[in-house]
Amino acid sequence: MRDFVLDQPGGRVVFGAGSLDAVPGEVSALGAERVMLVNDRHSRTTAETVADRLPGLVVARVGHTATHVPERLAADAVRLARESGADLLVCVGGGSATGLAKAVALETRLRILAVPTTYAGSEMTPIWGLTGDGRKRTGRDPGVRPVCVVYDPVLTLGLPPALSAASGMNAMAHLVEAVYAPKVSPLTVTAAIEGAGALARALPGVVRDPADLAARDEALYGAWLAGWVLGTTTMGIHHRICHVLGGRYALPHAATHSAVLPYATAHNRAAAGPSLAPLARALGAEDAAAGLWDLAVSIGAPTSLAAVGMRERDLDEAAALVAAERPVAGVRDLLRAAYAGARPSQESNEVTP
Ligand code: NAD
Repeated sequence: MRDFVLDQPGGRVVFGAGSLDAVPGEVSALGAERVMLVNDRHSRTTAETVADRLPGLVVARVGHTATHVPERLAADAVRLARESGADLLVCVGGGSATGLAKAVALETRLRILAVPTTYAGSEMTPIWGLTGDGRKRTGRDPGVRPVCVVYDPVLTLGLPPALSAASGMNAMAHLVEAVYAPKVSPLTVTAAIEGAGALARALPGVVRDPADLAARDEALYGAWLAGWVLGTTTMGIHHRICHVLGGRYALPHAATHSAVLPYATAHNRAAAGPSLAPLARALGAEDAAAGLWDLAVSIGAPTSLAAVGMRERDLDEAAALVAAERPVAGVRDLLRAAYAGARPSQESNEVTP
């Protein structure tokens, strides 16, 4: 008997090498006449290309972003959007650029056209996040989900191997947690398994040769599915932990996901039951948690919280902060395992959530 909830995303997706060329047509199809461009430092050249192709339409630009969207940065961008009379936000860059555009959309109700350049997946979701006073606030609002997303794998060719690997594991985390989400729809699970397979196939090639366009195409395809999945269901203990660690200790977002994921997956083995088996197969592994650890090691992505800058003395506080949001047994052990970074064994961390 089926019993599921699907938060059906409604946006348009344009995917393919060279699809940056489609941006002017998409802007015009949206009827926009006053564009505010938001880009991170890396994407300045791409944003300039976009601006050149939108002659007379760009009325404001923000070229500075920061991870987890600091409230002050968001307030400045909201002010600029209002003063410029923008009628569309076009963001180019990683999850931080998308996040800043979402923060503006949250206040102004402007629509977003997103051009992602990492594997974060934010461009497909209604989830916004803002950080202030060492705390990250997040929420869901359909109005911040980009109405159009242009995926061009060419834009990811410059993403360095270490960032590609960590960002790819961040996408993988969305796929893993979808598989065992409560009331997850069969469509979401199918997309999650497909995405996990695509990332597992692509990431070793991306790291070996960052300019391999076929591997980049496959990785971005997996990242699109990861974003789609994230936008259609709810996430579990892994995302809750990364949310707390990112907000409280300013750890690097994607790398933290990579470090925690094998241990969160091991932690969830008992509760997830057979739903992790197809995921393990997609990873080419017998056990999903060990398979994720092996993948991360093979692509040089972090597998320990110590490696991403977490201090051992903060682990207990972090466990308490996670448990304060919703009490879950075994979080302290999970964090300790993630801090140590050893390959998860079948027996380890089998704690019922
Ligand atoms: P990021 O956007 O902070 O980018 C990391 C670095 O990579 C930056 O210096 C950026 O300039 C650079 N960069 C981006 N694209 C590049 C490219 N193609 N080549 C070279 N360098 C490039 O990091 P991220 O991991 O993409 O995003 C993390 C942020 O996204 C976090 O704030 C996280 O909370 C958020 N996020 C939100 C959601 C959501 O649904 N709301 C989902 C995932 C992530």
